[in-house]
Amino acid sequence: MKKDGFPLKRNYKERYDITRNSSRIRSSDVIAGVFDNLSYFDSPDPSLIAAKGTIDGVECYILGQEKRRQGKESLATGMITSKGFAYVLDVLDLAEKNQIPVVSFIDTFGGDTSMESEIGGQSFLISDCISRYGGVKTALVSYVIGEGGSGGALALQVADKSYMLENSLYSVIAPESCCRIIFHRRLTSGENIEDTVPDALEMLRPGAEHIKEIGMIDGILPEPINGAHENYEFTIDTIKESLTLTLKDWVVELKTGEKVLKPKLVDKLVVERRQRVLNYGMFEDTIDKLTKRKIMKSVHEKINTVDIEREEFYTQLLMKAHMEEKGIEETELFECTKEWDVDKNLFKVKGGCGFVPYQQYVDNYYACPKCGKGEYLTVEEQIDKVCDPNTFEEIESDLTIHKLIGKERYYFGQYQKSLDKTTETCFSKEGLVAGSAKLNGKPIVLIVTDLKFFGGSFGAAFGEKFKRAVDFAVKNKFPMVSICASGGARMNEGPMSLAQMAKMNMAILDLKKAGVLYLSVITGPTTGGAYASYATQGDVMFGERGSLVEFAGPRVVTGAGFEVDKEIVCTDNLHETGKIQHLVDRKGLKESLAYYVNIYHDMTFPAERKITGRVNDFRKPVEPNFVS
Ligand SMILES: [Zn+2]
Repeated sequence: MKKDGFPLKRNYKERYDITRNSSRIRSSDVIAGVFDNLSYFDSPDPSLIAAKGTIDGVECYILGQEKRRQGKESLATGMITSKGFAYVLDVLDLAEKNQIPVVSFIDTFGGDTSMESEIGGQSFLISDCISRYGGVKTALVSYVIGEGGSGGALALQVADKSYMLENSLYSVIAPESCCRIIFHRRLTSGENIEDTVPDALEMLRPGAEHIKEIGMIDGILPEPINGAHENYEFTIDTIKESLTLTLKDWVVELKTGEKVLKPKLVDKLVVERRQRVLNYGMFEDTIDKLTKRKIMKSVHEKINTVDIEREEFYTQLLMKAHMEEKGIEETELFECTKEWDVDKNLFKVKGGCGFVPYQQYVDNYYACPKCGKGEYLTVEEQIDKVCDPNTFEEIESDLTIHKLIGKERYYFGQYQKSLDKTTETCFSKEGLVAGSAKLNGKPIVLIVTDLKFFGGSFGAAFGEKFKRAVDFAVKNKFPMVSICASGGARMNEGPMSLAQMAKMNMAILDLKKAGVLYLSVITGPTTGGAYASYATQGDVMFGERGSLVEFAGPRVVTGAGFEVDKEIVCTDNLHETGKIQHLVDRKGLKESLAYYVNIYHDMTFPAERKITGRVNDFRKPVEPNFVS
């Protein structure tokens, strides 16, 4: 079956060109070619195909992301909307109920970034899909057939067996969006996006061989010599053969001739899937080293230097704002400036509602008590805001990507330089700070993102610290409180950072199964991956008033041709539309959390919580409307 060109002799740019060929095979072609007895469901989104069909006598549910096709009128973009993701959850419910395997085909630039999807709870639903794929009690197979872009792809990709076509790409962010952020300066100085794409691809490492290396897929399937657009039949046969073989191991034929999943198979798959996803983003030789590492506890020496830290931090912010104003270099995250009426001692924050007395502003942790607009807080201030004084004890303060996977893999070049520099000035050695603390005398586990650390973004070490914080919370039965402000997945770590979304959501399933309370606080700015993963999985959701929350960063959204509506992309709107339960002031956050922490500690919880169906039942599903 192997032909020239396999395995993977092409560079990223060549594969990118093949993947973007407008005649490349689409999900609809693959589905029509691979399955018999197809009946299509009434999907609410042209970018999502949902169907039922058989292969080699095995009935499957089928989900496919459909990109626009050359020469055909179509509303499909491949970018699934919030309605589409809600529908995916419905299909998974149905698959679990009927014990039918689900086969997913991934081909997308990413999830839809329109304001309609934002209103529909895009990030919440993508996060739910990732969790649901992680825990759903049926067998799962997935194929990346074209392009896997960010959380929108990951939402359908976690499976018991996963494959990629040889030339397909799986990336933490669409390459063009990466260029708009990383190579902004080059673009403003006249270069075209196309000129910067090859460099972005080198950083993003989206090739199948690397995705396999970090455990996110099991196999790479060959394409015709010049790519899958050249010969659909070849590609269809390849996928058909792979799927038939995969399912063959899982099914048993009844006397009636019907082929069903083997008894007890699903329980085994779910256990293995959990372990597999918790190792996502790790290299095989480092997993062993990692499991031997014990959770380390330390009292942090920098904890009492709040004021000094703030001044330094604030100077940085002012500098960034200044640079942005002068057009020197735009930054994705920061837009905070303030006016100070020195005589009256009144403050006004940019975008805020008006002047307020300075003391009120400081007492509310550097935010306007009326509208919530304010400055970003340091880790020390976040800890101070919710913990009893001097009770925070950090765990895993020294866990770094260097220690996790060695120098040679990601910890080199410019990234190493930036990391080393950042580590020197930051609270911890990664963007997530975790530890135990007391909240009104009751023990908790607290995790806080550090905006100073690559904008609160996550990579492999962040994800591992998150998992260890969960393990620590489960072991001690302490409720876990998360305070999140994050720019999303750290592009410098490529797919390894994307993988953390699945890993962290899987860890949260552990937390929920163990009956441990998880309180999630969203502060600003929170965009991208953290928002579309762990930050939206709280048993109770809190938002700090006036905080920016958006599925994709502003530059990505405008780059995709959408307007950003500031009334929509804020925590106040999340509260109005019922996506979060509590909208709080910074000053009042501690007491709001204490209410639940107290209830939790006063109750006797069952040792294990039984999870059936969706983890978050309060989210409204769309009405299932299947047409056969
Ligand atoms: Zn205000």
